[in-house]
Amino acid sequence: MNYRKKSLEEIPEESTSIWACTKEDCKGWMRDNFAFEHEPTCRLCDSPMVRDSKMLPILNNSNGDLKAIKKGVQID
Ligand SMILES: [Zn+2]
Repeated sequence: MNYRKKSLEEIPEESTSIWACTKEDCKGWMRDNFAFEHEPTCRLCDSPMVRDSKMLPILNNSNGDLKAIKKGVQID
């Protein structure tokens, strides 16, 4: 299936702090938006997660256009 639009609007991206799963073949990661008391575990495979960074669209709540930022495989 193809979810791509004909032309992607330009969404500014920035290096964002994330937690990434340490399991090699797992794509689990989450934005570091929350103040974890402990290191989180992957919700896909329960492996430990490590701090990492990823180029992600800048979250901008001012325009309310949440559809534009729904890409990637964020899990929550
Ligand atoms: Zn995982």
